[in-house]
Amino acid sequence: MSKEAIHIIGGGLAGSEAAWQAAEAGAQVVLHEMRPVRETEVHETDSLAELVCSNSFRSDDWEYNAVGLLHQEMRLCGSLIMRSADKHKLPAGGALAVDRHGFSSEVQHALEAHPNVNIVREEILKLPAADDWSNVIIATGPLTSPDLAQAIQDMTGEDELAFFDAIAPIVYKDSIDFDVAWFQSRYDKGGPGGDGADYINCPLNKEQYETLVQALVDGEKTEFKDWEKSTPYFDGCLPIEVMAERGPETLRHGPMKPVGLTNPHSDEKPYAVVQLRQDNALGSLYNMVGCQTKLKHGEQKRIFRTIPGLEGAAFARLGGLHRNTFLNSPKVLDEELRLRSAPHIRFAGQITGVEGYLESAAIGLLAGRYGANQQLSRSNTPPPLPTALGALANHITSGADSSTFQPMNINYGLLPDLQRDEFNPRDYKGKERARARKRAKSERALRALQIWLNENDSASEVAAAS
Ligand SMILES: Cc1cc2nc3c(=O)[nH]c(=O)nc-3n(C[C@H](O)[C@H](O)[C@H](O)COP(=O)(O)OP(=O)(O)OC[C@H]3O[C@@H](n4cnc5c(N)ncnc54)[C@H](O)[C@@H]3O)c2cc1C
Repeated sequence: MSKEAIHIIGGGLAGSEAAWQAAEAGAQVVLHEMRPVRETEVHETDSLAELVCSNSFRSDDWEYNAVGLLHQEMRLCGSLIMRSADKHKLPAGGALAVDRHGFSSEVQHALEAHPNVNIVREEILKLPAADDWSNVIIATGPLTSPDLAQAIQDMTGEDELAFFDAIAPIVYKDSIDFDVAWFQSRYDKGGPGGDGADYINCPLNKEQYETLVQALVDGEKTEFKDWEKSTPYFDGCLPIEVMAERGPETLRHGPMKPVGLTNPHSDEKPYAVVQLRQDNALGSLYNMVGCQTKLKHGEQKRIFRTIPGLEGAAFARLGGLHRNTFLNSPKVLDEELRLRSAPHIRFAGQITGVEGYLESAAIGLLAGRYGANQQLSRSNTPPPLPTALGALANHITSGADSSTFQPMNINYGLLPDLQRDEFNPRDYKGKERARARKRAKSERALRALQIWLNENDSASEVAAAS
C-alpha cells in the first residue's frame, strides 16, 4: 500500500476540508499554505480557512434550501468546516453565521493536532511533476498566486483559466411565462447538438426596450475594489449597463437584436429580444445572454423582471463581475476532479468554478476523499446526482456547458427532477407545491447520501482492515 503523502496546496476553506477528510480516512497529508510567507490581496490573517468577507455560511435550513441541504450532507460526511462552524455559530436567524476568528482557529488547531497532517508554510510556484508528488490537490482559490496561476494556464491552455467572473443572471426555467416567451434559435439554426429551438426568447416592444435601457443606465451599480482594477479587463464581455450607456441602439444591435426570430404568440415583430440559453444538462436553468452586470442584486431583480415573460422570474443566481481565478472545469477535469492532461493533480474549491465558502469546502471534501482513496489503493465513486454534493460536482465536471461556463452556487436546479412516485404536484396547491418539491428533493438527497456513505465508508473500513 502506497503511503506517499497527498500534497494539498492552499489551506483555505477547500484545502483545509480536503486535508481533514484525507487524514481522517487514514492518508498522510502535507498541507502547503503560503500565508504568512506571502500574502494575498484580501486575506488579513495567517489562519487556515480564513473567511475573507462575510461571516455567514448562508441558510441552515436543509428542508427548504439547497445551501442548508449542503450543510447537512457535509455534516453527515464528518466535515471539519461544518463542525467548526457549528461550534462557533452566532445568532443570525435562519442563517449559519460564525465568529470568524473562533472558526478559523478551530479548523487550524484540529489540523495541527491531527497525526496524519503536516502543515508547511510556503508558496508553491509550479505544478509538481508526477514523479515528485504523485497525489496533488490544488486548492489555491480565487486569488491563486501569480506564478502558480501562470503554470496552471500553461498546462491547461490560455482559454481554460479565467481571471474574472462575468456572470449573467441565471433563471429557473419553470419560473418563465411561456404564454409570452418562446423557444427558437435565430434563423432556426440547429448548430452542434441543437434542434433549432435552443433559446428562450422574451420579446420587447419599443417602449419596453427604451424603458429597460434607461433603467440599466440609471440602476445602482457596485464598484470594482481597488485591487480588482489592476487585473486586466476583458473586452468581449462588457457589462450590460456599460453597453446601454454607449447609446440607446447598442443593445438592439448587440445581444438583444430581434433578427431571425418570429414570435408565435403575436403577429407583431419584436423591437428587441432578450434571449436565455440553457445552462445545465438537466435543462432546468437558463442564463440571460449578454446580461453580465455589476448592478446591485436588488436592482437586477427589479429591472430584469420588467422584461416580458420574466415578470415572475426566480433567479438561481444573480449577475456579477469580480476577480476570480477559475478553470473551465467541465472541459479540463474528469469526474474525480483530476486534470485530464495530468491526472496526478486534482483541483478543489473556488478554482474549480464553484462559488462560495460552502461550495468550495464541499469540493474540498470530495477531493480529499478521492485523494485518500487513491493513496490507499481504493476506487472512487462520486456521490449520486440527487445529492447536493453529487449535483454540484457533476455540474462542474460535466453538467455545465463548457463554452459558457461561469462559477455556480448550489441550488435545487442542479438536482434532477423528482419522479412521479417521489412527488406528485397535484397533491399540493400554489406556493405549497414549490415548498413541498424542495422538501422532497432534500429528503431524497439525504437518503441517497446515506446509502453512498454506507457503501463507501464501509468499503474503506474493509480495505483498511485487510
Ligand atoms: C474578495 C472576496 C470576497 C468573497 N466573499 C465571500 C463571501 O462573503 N461569502 C462566500 O460564501 N464566498 C465569498 N467569496 C468566494 C469564496 O467562497 C471564497 O473566496 C473562499 O474562500 C474560497 O475557498 P477556497 O478554499 O477555494 O480559497 P481560499 O479560501 O482563498 O484559500 C486558498 C488558499 O490558498 C493559498 N494560496 C494561494 N496561492 C498559493 C500558492 N501558490 N501556494 C500556497 N498557497 C497558496 C491562499 O493563501 C489561501 O489561503 C469571496 C471571494 C473573494 C475573492
